[in-house]
Amino acid sequence: MTPIPEDLAGAVLSIDLVALKHNWLRLKALAGKAECGAAVKGNGYGLGIDPVARALWEAGCRSYFVARPKEGEELRQVLPEATIYILDGLFAGQAEFYAKLNLCPALISIDEAREWAAFGRVYGRKLPCAIHVDTGINRLGFAMAEFDSLLADRFTLEGLNVTLLMSHLACADDPPHPLNQRQRAAFDAVRAKLPGVAASLANSAGVFLGDDYRHDLVRPGIALYGGNPTQNVANPMHPVAILEGAVMQLRDVAEGDTVGYSATWTAHRPSRIAVLGAGYKDGVPRALSSREPQGPAQVFISGRRCPVIGRISMDMMAIDITELPPGSVRRGTRAEILGRHIGIDEAAGWAGTISYELLTRLGSRYARLYTGLESDGTA
Ligand SMILES: *Cc1c(COP(=O)(O)O)cnc(C)c1O
Repeated sequence: MTPIPEDLAGAVLSIDLVALKHNWLRLKALAGKAECGAAVKGNGYGLGIDPVARALWEAGCRSYFVARPKEGEELRQVLPEATIYILDGLFAGQAEFYAKLNLCPALISIDEAREWAAFGRVYGRKLPCAIHVDTGINRLGFAMAEFDSLLADRFTLEGLNVTLLMSHLACADDPPHPLNQRQRAAFDAVRAKLPGVAASLANSAGVFLGDDYRHDLVRPGIALYGGNPTQNVANPMHPVAILEGAVMQLRDVAEGDTVGYSATWTAHRPSRIAVLGAGYKDGVPRALSSREPQGPAQVFISGRRCPVIGRISMDMMAIDITELPPGSVRRGTRAEILGRHIGIDEAAGWAGTISYELLTRLGSRYARLYTGLESDGTA
């Protein structure tokens, strides 16, 4: 994709790779003796796999988690030496694709384990893999009984080079939830049956649940990208994605005038409006449109928060800047839609979603600026 120059894009997405590295180092410090990996699935949570992975590698990260084999292929081109786990497991008939790229499937069933072991025998060596056991989220992974069958199937087990035993928490973002302890206990029971293999349970929020959730490797994702991995506590992570929309037009509207499609917002006083070049095509959720009665979503412009008014449309959105000093906003002035003042968790909350969805749905039409790579960071 050819980069879009800043002056020709209505909106600018800046990605602060220094903040990303800082977040990884912070999590690594918290992880203590455990290795700190990184979940970079979904194109590095929407922020660009190439620069994100290179920055994390520079920070010292060596183990990466993506969802799909094709994501693994893309990551392998960026990081020839990294350990890459494929969280969606082994796709049927695709073992050779994984083996050639040295991708480690996180095997989720006995079928997959047999296929991987059988392929390794043909290929001439035991191939690395993780075993993903489901301890209660009931999504991907070996059921506990199925894991016992794998242990009983010595032939299959002996054909595998199991480098990681993993499971995934359902409620790590809710520390008092009883499922956390239940899953940890179940995982510890699983580990006892396959001693000597490195273990991994914690995602971002899991890292904050305490030492007995950190095991040998933690796999944070959202916290690396600035999402708050804690509850009811100020976000300890730095913002990484800064999305700004440039003002295209300013207008004065009279009391009683409406703004935007379906006339959902009415001026209750003479108002000054700014129209920004960012809309739902750019990943600004349409759910950020005037929200009554909860109170409006906000952007940050000229040192203040201003409300989003009317409907978010495909290419633009309107804000009310009446409270700003006259002349403080001009054509081309940028408003922060996400970033240092408007946190991704806050904005996601206004839109009725989560930071993960907000980041992974960011569009491709803005200028993307990456800052903070040591190596040539043209992305
Ligand atoms: C996405 C994912 C992670 C990272 O989760 P965050 O909540 O973003 O930290 C870790 N493990 C698995 C299995 C995942 O799918």
